[in-house]
Amino acid sequence: MKYSTILLFGAPGAGKGTQGKILGTIPNFFHCACGDVFRNLTIDSELGRIFIEYSSRGELVPDEHTILLWRKNIHTNEQTGRFHPDHDTLVLDGIPRNLNQAEMLRDTLDVRAAFNFTCPDPAKLVGRLQRRALRDNRLDDANLEVIRNRLETYERETRPVLDFYGRSVLHQIDATQTPVNVLRDILRVIAKF
Ligand code: ADP
Repeated sequence: MKYSTILLFGAPGAGKGTQGKILGTIPNFFHCACGDVFRNLTIDSELGRIFIEYSSRGELVPDEHTILLWRKNIHTNEQTGRFHPDHDTLVLDGIPRNLNQAEMLRDTLDVRAAFNFTCPDPAKLVGRLQRRALRDNRLDDANLEVIRNRLETYERETRPVLDFYGRSVLHQIDATQTPVNVLRDILRVIAKF
């Protein structure tokens, strides 16, 4: 059975995490942020070390590791009764992050909608990330060079994934709005499901 899924796309700092968390509180929606799954690893595990190595440079963790970890996490959530695939919609944030990951998840995800959080001003994204660095203790947000690399990685690797899913499911969301207005725009779409 494929998972009924909503995908959140957008550059780092665009607000996917904020919206994903809110959506995850609605009954029958289950939020999974791939970055959080990585951050929950312990530093003394092999994958924890691999994660630090790549994320501290602003690069993506290799696909095989990422997809394997993500599958394990989803199965754990199913087994512990937090995620019920037969009646929950999965809200994914941060995965798939390149075309290869999208291919690897082709048989797993039934993508009902994909939201692209747009923010034409990179300075705004950088400002949000720098504020988040202190608030959330995020090493990868603390350094301007790493932030720039994350934004470039997004443009180069993640943006092409939007075409993979195509126009019929894609919705553009103006991420420069207040969180409540971003939420309103998303809810307008998913309320029709
Ligand atoms: P942001 O949205 O700000 O980039 P995330 O919390 O989504 O932050 O991701 C943090 C880091 O975790 C990424 O820079 C990357 O190194 C790693 N990561 C998260 N998701 C993936 C993924 N799907 N594939 C590869 N690496 C990932």
